[in-house]
Amino acid sequence: MSNKNLQVTLANRPTGWVQESDFKIVENDIPKPGPGQVLVKNLYLSLDPYMRGRMNAGPSYAANVAIGQVMVGGTAGEVVESNNPNFKPGDLVIGYFGWQQYGASNGAELRKVDPKLVPLSAYLGAVGMPGLTAWWGLIDIGAPKEGETVVVSAAAGAVGSVVGQIAKIKGCRAVGIAGGKEKCELVVNEFGFDACVDYKGGNLKKDLRAAAPKGIDIYFENVGGVVLETVALQLNPFARIPLCGLISQYNEVRPHGLDNLVMLLINRVKLQGFILGDYATRSDPAMKEITQWVREGKIKYRETIANGIEDAPRAFIGLLKGENIGKQLVKLF
Ligand code: NDP
Repeated sequence: MSNKNLQVTLANRPTGWVQESDFKIVENDIPKPGPGQVLVKNLYLSLDPYMRGRMNAGPSYAANVAIGQVMVGGTAGEVVESNNPNFKPGDLVIGYFGWQQYGASNGAELRKVDPKLVPLSAYLGAVGMPGLTAWWGLIDIGAPKEGETVVVSAAAGAVGSVVGQIAKIKGCRAVGIAGGKEKCELVVNEFGFDACVDYKGGNLKKDLRAAAPKGIDIYFENVGGVVLETVALQLNPFARIPLCGLISQYNEVRPHGLDNLVMLLINRVKLQGFILGDYATRSDPAMKEITQWVREGKIKYRETIANGIEDAPRAFIGLLKGENIGKQLVKLF
């Protein structure tokens, strides 16, 4: 194997939209695992919208990335050297090594996974962080009841596609909101939603009313901005909004507020922001259930896979612009 470790570091803090020049590809030596450590060859890198927030100087719910630091991120890889009795070469692990080909660790944050249950890459998607986010946000905050209408934005993406499929399993009407005809067709035909509205089609309000004729009981929020404002007008009394993300605002210098907040008051709507990490210490029915549903084909998933670490900056910008379908990954080898 080559003895170099290609990495992507943060070169500049973007103002507004991220540029490829905000990243730098650097080459360093592969780390040597110390006593008790393992060396992991990262096979897949997960690209996620939250990484945009880590590029800012301002506060977020986690520390930002320093200029010159390797970009953070979840990885799926193979143990290639081990000085730790809990791991052996060949073990497949989920870690948080960031945008780089190799990483050394004492193993505390590594989780062994079984590729015989689902393919390795799925542990970064439907059976990983995005899938768990969908499960906890919908089940714990949305609390779906049979016959209710669940609307989810970014419905063709990693989190949204799973939200709608869980809603169907729970006996709800699942309505997606996604950008473009192709994505909407996929949401209905492949992910099995009852309907999908193209928010770029110019008739969001009317199309949403047609897709959710009985009003909206749960709105799983991934995007914010005008989509949230439009949904707010069609919420039923006592609707719930698990506030998962606001991707339409992540590159805005002045994020958009919510104009018709009064609708939440009139309809006694519960809106709760959440971060998946809040659920880390709870027992994990989510992981068990999602793994089973994926294995049974009750939850389907798609992946958009970029090739090589050098392509990570372009793919990340593509994710923020909606070029991905399903989970955005980078195959590192
Ligand atoms: P996705 O795979 O859904 O990819 C992002 C999608 O967002 C794009 O494909 C695009 O789809 C959509 N999008 C981008 N810009 C806009 C816009 N201006 N208006 C409407 N939609 C837009 O990403 P994830 O599934 O990983 O994440 C979805 C959301 O969940 C994000 O907001 C993310 O931050 C959040 N999240 C929150 C977590 C938590 O713990 N709270 C954990 C994980 C994710 P389209 O083509 O349809 O526009």
